[in-house]
Amino acid sequence: MSVETELLNRSESKCELCASTDNLSGYAVPPDSDETLEQSVMLCGTCRDQIDNPEKVEVNHWRCLNDSMWSQVPAVQVMAWRMLNQLKAEGWPQDLLDMLYLDDDTLTWAKAVSDGGDDSSVIHKDSNGAILEAGDTVTLIKDLVVKGANFTAKRGTAVRGISLVADNAEHIEGRVSGQRIVILTKFVKKSN
Ligand SMILES: [Zn+2]
Repeated sequence: MSVETELLNRSESKCELCASTDNLSGYAVPPDSDETLEQSVMLCGTCRDQIDNPEKVEVNHWRCLNDSMWSQVPAVQVMAWRMLNQLKAEGWPQDLLDMLYLDDDTLTWAKAVSDGGDDSSVIHKDSNGAILEAGDTVTLIKDLVVKGANFTAKRGTAVRGISLVADNAEHIEGRVSGQRIVILTKFVKKSN
């Protein structure tokens, strides 16, 4: 059975992101899909066009991710995560991202093309000068008062699965006490 046929079966002949049935075709998840079923998703023409051409993105089309991000298929989770991450400045995509739990391997895969992975000019370093990467675990080296939320993130708190702020080498993001916060790199130490 061809991958295209397997994809049609898995997706029940619907776009795996927006459930449209128009113009379906298999999409190999970048950057280095092996084009197997596991590393492909079924997409409609609209989703494919907007994924391939970020300047054409219609934000409201992607409200479909509200449903599809709960897919059990890692490749679909990856595509949903990336699109939400791309649109997070709109607000609601960030809310969805905050609810979307990906296991470590899937998250690493999702981040393989995001966070300005190609932009080597911004390098994030911890308080000891160790280079930080998306998905790392860091430990807070001092108590941090979280602005806009009434709690203090305690020294010694481990923050798992950080993300890097693409345009600011001093900022990372991570989840503390269930809230996603921006943390200054000089207040963290990379854990191994
Ligand atoms: Zn679609």
